[in-house]
Amino acid sequence: MKRQYLVAGNWKMNGSLKANAELLAGIAAKREEVSAVELLVCPPAIYLDSVGKALPEAVRLGAQNLCEQTKAGAFTGELLGGMLTELGCRYVLVGHSERRSLYGESDERVAEKYKAAQAQELIPVLCIGETLAEREAGTTEAVLSRQLKAVLDLCGIESFAKAVIAYEPVWAIGTGKTATPAQAQEAHAFIRGLLAGQSATIAGSTRLLYGGSVKPDNANELFACEDIDGGLIGGASLKASDFIGIALAAQALSAV
Ligand code: PEP
Repeated sequence: MKRQYLVAGNWKMNGSLKANAELLAGIAAKREEVSAVELLVCPPAIYLDSVGKALPEAVRLGAQNLCEQTKAGAFTGELLGGMLTELGCRYVLVGHSERRSLYGESDERVAEKYKAAQAQELIPVLCIGETLAEREAGTTEAVLSRQLKAVLDLCGIESFAKAVIAYEPVWAIGTGKTATPAQAQEAHAFIRGLLAGQSATIAGSTRLLYGGSVKPDNANELFACEDIDGGLIGGASLKASDFIGIALAAQALSAV
């Protein structure tokens, strides 16, 4: 049986009190229609409290980033995992490509953040993926291996029993250019194979999300792939009808 689908919205640096309330109301109105799917929203940190309080029934809350420290202290501008947990977060994105490329997060730092998340009862959504140049150079698998290895080396295969991986080809994020289902499935099967090299059980249960310009009209063909267990959604997660439209694709496949 396939793993439960997870459809996660990464709101990035978007939203306002008013826009968030409207978005949540739109999701709440349709939540029952996608009851087989786990839904997650990741608003900007400043809205975690208000979004957490207005969260529709059975929708999870997640943060977009956390500090690699596990104790409070003099780290101006950073957020401790425990603070996120206190506000009701269950998940946290780790190593999103924008964090890696714009804020210089190395594989090692991403691994530290993944470790800190788990130490503070958060489920990390580990984002990995190659750039266009890397794909064109034929190094996609080497990049995915390297990014995953940093976490495996620090935290071990067992840690993936409480983690999600999001494969996000950088060239597909926010570009409107989606990986074909075949390209996405190939990468997902490769990632699952890397996990299986260490534990077939963990590999079989870890959810692998696809991210990169997922929309209601391409979600079905992506989610139908054997190793794709849902999506990490950027732009389309800001509009309730699109976010729910994507979740409906997962819902339809859940009933198969
Ligand atoms: C993302 O930010 O993780 C993402 C996949 O964005 P988009 O859906 O807009 O490509």
